Amino acid sequence: MDQCEATVLGSSPAVHDALTRRPKSFTRLVTNLQRLASANKQIGLCLNVMPVNLHHIFEIVRQFQHDHQIPVRSVMIQRIIPSGRASNGCRKFMLDVADVAILMAQLHQIAAQFDLPILFEDPLPWCVVDPQYHQYLGRCEWGFTKGSINAEGLLTRCAADDHYRLGSIWDGNLQEIWQTHPLLQAFRAKRYLPEECQQCALLDQCGGGCALSCGTLHELSPDALYLQAQTRRNT
Ligand code: SF4
Ligand code: SF4
Repeated sequence: MDQCEATVLGSSPAVHDALTRRPKSFTRLVTNLQRLASANKQIGLCLNVMPVNLHHIFEIVRQFQHDHQIPVRSVMIQRIIPSGRASNGCRKFMLDVADVAILMAQLHQIAAQFDLPILFEDPLPWCVVDPQYHQYLGRCEWGFTKGSINAEGLLTRCAADDHYRLGSIWDGNLQEIWQTHPLLQAFRAKRYLPEECQQCALLDQCGGGCALSCGTLHELSPDALYLQAQTRRNT
């Protein structure tokens, strides 16, 4: 093992431990990462951004770099999606379109101050982000260059979708599934996105954000933040 990604949920043990529901999990995480760092392993921070930690994203990175002396190599941003273990009561963990500016300003500060790459595992629709921050964005790669396989060998496009309906690696036709499965073809073609996206010059780079963020797991959907912004524009 040369590198690992560590999920941090808050800038204090109280917030992190309350969300993991594991007492002392923050302290253990810091200790384990310090051991990995002392063995020259590379460490990426994976931050699940939620209203409870939205204002502490920069502070989390600062603490791990400076206070805990853990040399961080990258910062990965994840959103909470209403799926799987997060499907019940998850709304309070989801970002609002007004939260995006607060998040992006901190990511800009992290990139500028610590010279760290910012990675979006669950990307945002580009049109809800100030263009000065577009340099940090990307499209959802799950279904293009990434896929998820569970312990039984079942395949799903994205790990947040626990339906595992694409097939099995044991069937011997993984390449064929990946190239021809209708769900993957529909995701890649982006026809599920609204007309505004179809006409958008940013479609290839943006990909429409997260296709699962509305919680309609049996279909692909426009991003919940895009729909929220559109509703605000129309009212
Ligand atoms: S579909 Fe959504 S939850 Fe899944 S990887 Fe893409 S952005 Fe993340
Ligand atoms: S493709 Fe759609 S979601 Fe993405 S920037 Fe364009 S209009 Fe917004």
